[in-house]
Amino acid sequence: MFKGLLVEKDGHSYQATIQNLDDSVLMEGDTVISVSYSTLNYKDALAITGKSPVVRKFPMIPGIDLAGTVISCSSDKFKAGDEVVLNGFGVGEVHCGGLAQKAKLHSDWLIPLPKSLSVKQSMAIGTAGYTAMLCVIALEKHGVLPDSGEILVTGANGGVGSYAIALLAKLGYTIVAATGRVEESDYLKSLGASEIIDRKLLSEPGRPLAKERWAGVIDSVGSHTLVNACASTKYGGIVAACGLAQGMDLPGTVAPFILRGITLAGIDSVMRPLKDRIEAWDRLSELLDTKTLEDVATEIPLSQVCDIAQLLIEGKIRGRIVVKVS
Ligand code: NDP
Repeated sequence: MFKGLLVEKDGHSYQATIQNLDDSVLMEGDTVISVSYSTLNYKDALAITGKSPVVRKFPMIPGIDLAGTVISCSSDKFKAGDEVVLNGFGVGEVHCGGLAQKAKLHSDWLIPLPKSLSVKQSMAIGTAGYTAMLCVIALEKHGVLPDSGEILVTGANGGVGSYAIALLAKLGYTIVAATGRVEESDYLKSLGASEIIDRKLLSEPGRPLAKERWAGVIDSVGSHTLVNACASTKYGGIVAACGLAQGMDLPGTVAPFILRGITLAGIDSVMRPLKDRIEAWDRLSELLDTKTLEDVATEIPLSQVCDIAQLLIEGKIRGRIVVKVS
C-alpha cells in the first residue's frame, strides 16, 4: 500500500481525497518510481478542484510533475536507484501522476535528474520553471537579447511568471512585471524585475495598436492581456504565450502581426520533444541558484494539497508550491 491523492467522479460528485492505494490504481508503464516530491501547478489545482475538465480518466492520481527514484525499469533506459524527473505527457490528466508515493510511467517520458539539482530543487522548478525556460529560449531564438529592450512578464507572481523574471534577470534582460498584487513588488524586484505595473493596465479591452514598448513578452495570462501585450510589442518583436490565467480567449486583431511583423510563439510544455526538455533543464540547472529556488518555492505536505489548490485557483499563492510526497 502507498499514500496518494485520488480524484474520483461519480455522476455529479467530484472529489479529491488522500487514500491508501494499491498498485491496481496505477496504469501501464515500464518504470516504477518511488516519488519523493511533486508540485502544485495551476493545472493540478484545476484537476483537484474540478474547476476545469483537466482529468480525462477516473479514478486519477493528479500531479503533472514528479521527481523520485527508480524502483524498477524493464527498458534499458534506467536502472533501480536512478533519480528521474517527469513533466507533462498527459500525466495527472490521462495517466496517474505525481501526487502519490508510487508512480508507474513510460521510461520515454522521463529525464535523468540534472546533476546539479536535488530532487526537491527539481520540483521547486517543476513545469512552471521549465515552461518559463522554454519561453526564454523562444525569445533568444528570435534574436531578442538583453540589449534589445524591455521584456514584459505577465502573471508575475505566479510560478511561470516568477521563474521567467528570475531567468531573464540572470541573463541580463530588463524586466517589467505585470501583476494584480503590486503589494508583492519587493518580491518581484528581488527576483530581478526593474519595474512593476498593475495588470489592470493590460487586462481590459485596448486599441489594436498601442505605443511600441516591449522587445519581447512572456505571457501566462492570455485573453485581453495577451492581445494588449501584442499591441504594444515593438516592430519585429516576439510574444511567447503559454497560459490562460485570465482566459482562453484571444479577442484581438491581426494589426500587430501584419503592420509590425511581431511573432506570437505558442509554448507547449506537455508534449515537448525530449531534446528540448533536456536543453531547458540543462539551462535551468545552470541559471537558477539555491537562493532563488528557496525564495520562489514553499514546501507543503501531501495532506495540505487540497486546501492549497483552492488558494492557487483564487490567485492567492505566490511563486511555487513543492509537495513532499514521501
Ligand atoms: P499560477 O497560478 O502560479 O500563476 C498565475 C498568475 O496569473 C497568478 O499568480 C496571477 O499573477 C495571474 N492571474 C491570475 N488570475 C488572473 C486574471 N484573472 N487576470 C490576470 N492575471 C491573472 O499559475 P502558473 O504560473 O503555474 O501557470 C500560469 C498559466 O500558464 C496557467 O494558465 C497554466 O495553465 C499555464 N501553463 C501552461 C503551460 C504550457 O505548457 N503551455 C505549462 C505551465 C503553465 P499576479 O497575481 O502577479 O497578477
